Amino acid sequence: MKPALYLKDSYMKEFSSTVESVKDDKFVVLMETAFYPNMGGQPYDTGKLLRESDGSEFPVVYVGKFDNMISHEVLRPGLKPGDKVKGVIDWDRRYKLMRMHTAAHVLARVLYNETGANTSGNQLGIEQSRIDFTLEGFDKDRIISCIKKANEIIKKGLDVRIEETSYEKAIGDDDFSAPSKHLMPKLERLRVINIKGLDKQACGGTHLKDLSEIGAIIFIKAENKGKSNRRIYFSLQDP
Ligand SMILES: [Zn+2]
Repeated sequence: MKPALYLKDSYMKEFSSTVESVKDDKFVVLMETAFYPNMGGQPYDTGKLLRESDGSEFPVVYVGKFDNMISHEVLRPGLKPGDKVKGVIDWDRRYKLMRMHTAAHVLARVLYNETGANTSGNQLGIEQSRIDFTLEGFDKDRIISCIKKANEIIKKGLDVRIEETSYEKAIGDDDFSAPSKHLMPKLERLRVINIKGLDKQACGGTHLKDLSEIGAIIFIKAENKGKSNRRIYFSLQDP
């Protein structure tokens, strides 16, 4: 299987491919795919595979990465290795997740810049997302002011680029925040999401090309999860 198509172009909604293998009549691996698998806090894509020979439709209900292969769980049996298919991604769902994911990058960087907070994880969702971070003291007003700052940056419509660097180079680059450096794998080739003028981060997810597509971050609530663990829930307002 070739590198996932979403790595180069996260706006690809449809693609042509060939079935490489099928397990238990429902777990389908394609030669190449633009479907994003469930990982790194970003939920899987849904959509459908259309067989070119007869037009029959195989809804994709889950996508996961196993043994380094992206596996599509389809609702109907019948696909065979060698079948030519067209993949169609449920774009409303994926685009919402791209907006959430990019917003999470902005918010994590603003929290770090303003308070020194280290982001420890995130879980993106369609309706709401959450960010976990460590911060001494629990000051809700401070968190809300960070969200305000994040929204001012979003309004500027900064470019978001997909770049590549090495671990060695990234470690010496101040555009990467200290906490994101800690999370970085020690690889020769790292995929980097560069929000021009704000932040660089090694990430394998799908992002927007322009911050203005986020709209605005809406604060839902902040939770105190013990000594210095905090959690923010947020949703998005359409641009
Ligand atoms: Zn990301």
